[in-house]
Amino acid sequence: MPHHSRPSLPIILLAATLAGSAVLLAHALGRPLWLGILALPPLGLAWWQMRLWSELRLRRAVMEATPYRAAIYAPDQRLIWHNARPGQVWADTLARLPPRPMLEQVLKAALWHLPAREREAEICRRMSLHESADGEPAELCDAEGNWVRQCERRLPSGEVASFVTDISHVRRSELAVAESEARLRLLLEMAPVGIWQLDAQGRTVFANRHLIRLFGGEMPKALANSGLALMSAESEGPFGFSACTESEAVLDLPSRAQLRLLVAASPWTPSEDGKPGCVLSLLDMTPLKAAQERIEHLAEHDPLTGLSNRASFHAGLNALVADPRGGLLLLIDLDHFKSANDRYGHGVGDALLVEAAHRLRGVVRPSDIVSRLGGDEFAILAFGADPQTALVLAGRVRDCLRPRLIIEGADLSVTASIGIACAPEHGDDGEALLRAADLALYEAKAQGRNTVIPFRPSLRERSEQRAELREAFAEALEAGELELHLQPQQDTERQVMIGAEALIRWNSRRLGRWISPAELIPAASEAGLLQELDRFVLRRAVEIIAGWGERPDAPRVLGINISITTLHELAFAQEVAEVLAAAGVAPHRLEIEIPEDLAIRDLPGVARTLAALREVGVPLSLDDFGGGHSGLPHVVRLPVQRLKLDRSIVAGLPDDPKSYAVLRATMALARGMGIEVIGEGVETQSQAFALRRAGCNIIQGYLIAKPMPADELVPPLVEFQAEPLRASA
Ligand code: C2E
Ligand code: MG
Ligand code: MG
Repeated sequence: MPHHSRPSLPIILLAATLAGSAVLLAHALGRPLWLGILALPPLGLAWWQMRLWSELRLRRAVMEATPYRAAIYAPDQRLIWHNARPGQVWADTLARLPPRPMLEQVLKAALWHLPAREREAEICRRMSLHESADGEPAELCDAEGNWVRQCERRLPSGEVASFVTDISHVRRSELAVAESEARLRLLLEMAPVGIWQLDAQGRTVFANRHLIRLFGGEMPKALANSGLALMSAESEGPFGFSACTESEAVLDLPSRAQLRLLVAASPWTPSEDGKPGCVLSLLDMTPLKAAQERIEHLAEHDPLTGLSNRASFHAGLNALVADPRGGLLLLIDLDHFKSANDRYGHGVGDALLVEAAHRLRGVVRPSDIVSRLGGDEFAILAFGADPQTALVLAGRVRDCLRPRLIIEGADLSVTASIGIACAPEHGDDGEALLRAADLALYEAKAQGRNTVIPFRPSLRERSEQRAELREAFAEALEAGELELHLQPQQDTERQVMIGAEALIRWNSRRLGRWISPAELIPAASEAGLLQELDRFVLRRAVEIIAGWGERPDAPRVLGINISITTLHELAFAQEVAEVLAAAGVAPHRLEIEIPEDLAIRDLPGVARTLAALREVGVPLSLDDFGGGHSGLPHVVRLPVQRLKLDRSIVAGLPDDPKSYAVLRATMALARGMGIEVIGEGVETQSQAFALRRAGCNIIQGYLIAKPMPADELVPPLVEFQAEPLRASA
């Protein structure tokens, strides 16, 4: 209850008490009433002083009980009173000061912690606050870092009452709120997602920086017409966006490419109008989606040509086999691609593959699958195509590849070997169909390439025979079934044998027959034993020459055929040198025949070995010249000493004018290069005569002799053996 609402009752009581007191006093003293009345004022004063004193005590108690630090300054700014709630800093300050200190002294002592200049400024500020003392609260920080709110008011007496309250806890929570708000804002702005707050009408309330960036730098005014559209509108969340799971949306702005977004939404109710809006968070998935699509594409496509790859080919193959309409599988191998790659470089090789892929894609229906199975091997899966159209489709493939192609100045022509299998006739599962097409392709390549072979069951037998041959050949090397037969080379002018060629012969015990080089060499190649065969030939030939020694009736040089695979190995030259040295045979007695078409196409691959062989001192000859792919410019780059004119040219002599033209050109070239020409496969006198007339005096062929065992060509000398002396009886 307020203190000033009581006085009426005490005043009445006081008046009654005064009257009563005067009567009682007069009666007690036995004096007249007037003397009782006279005694009242001194008693009243004493009573009033007592009352004042108790009032002051009450006020002081109140001031002590207040939660404020209270102080009173005299008009001359002297501290005349303060309550006992000063706090530690205030108490310490006052302890250092004389009683009743001046305000300036108090401030100086209280602000001891500040640097001198700041202290001066702060003292000035507080002095002026004190002077105005208008009751306006001011917030100040003390030496302990506590925040206080100070309010000073001038009293009518001219004194200044100062009230100070500790607001540190308020300040701390205000700071914490501000800090957390700033942190939240920073997070919102830094988040790599667009955050968009919308009111109930879909109007923008807040948009973070990332959202504005997503919208191309402009803050969207509202959801409607913002360009944001759900990809599937099945959810029932705010504005159609799913509230619990994420929805996919596209952002289609006329100014930029379409963005693909993941949108999460949550309802939000603003406090003012209570109508629900929503907060959308938008994550740009465009790069991720593109990468994902790229990965998916790469998993199924060949990165170079963009055709489907081997993995997805198998899926297509299974689909083809399962297709009730049936279909065709074409396996396509580009002929001599490897040589083009080696000769012109991988850039040209890649461009060639890309172009071939493009052309192949052009000859099939969109529903058919064209795959690159690896290297230069392609496949076509033609769904629903019947066997009768197989050759037509294969023809279209060959026709599309035929047009010449000029890449980086290289003039290329592409032919292909094609194997065809029909589903379901040639295989009721993908594996079997692929095997059938593979056998057909093998046959196409074996038949000299640029050929189309549809599968037929006999190919399976041939493949089995080949497998047997491969195995038998591997054993033959071990079992010593291989032998070299020699075919002499004759100088028709001097009528002398000047050399011979060593040709491989194999009489297989396991297969029970002679196997020609035409069969043997592919078998060795498939078994991966071609290099071993070449090494056998090298050692055996050197052994034969060593056996001849310096016999005048023996050929002065023996040629051996070495495969291109071996000629790719630089170490082969060193090996030749070692074998010759070990046998004591002069290098010029061993000639190495280079397979012509291969050498020409693989020139960069074999050039170093050929040069090294020349270093060793072994003569080189170019086999089957004119019969294959030789181009004159390449021949002149080969370090050969002889050209062996191919049997197919010799066969045309003397009547075929083209053969004759090749012969003449070859002779001119050889003369220009200062090298010899040897006519191969000479069977008739007229061929020998035609060659001789053109200037080719050295010939090899059945006319002179067929290949024969080494000791038939140069019979071993019969050594004289003395008859042992018989003891006389
Ligand atoms: P090539 O090096 O051109 O050998 C000449 C081939 O023509 C030999 O066939 C030979 O018997 C045959 N020939 C020789 N004169 C006549 C003739 O007047 N008429 C006919 N019709 N043919 C004749 P062969 O021995 O069957 O060899 C075929 C091919 O196999 C060789 O052609 C050569 O490229 C390869 N070859 C033979 N032996 C080896 C060898 O030891 N190693 C390697 N890597 N290849 C070999
Ligand atoms: Mg030869
Ligand atoms: Mg030859």
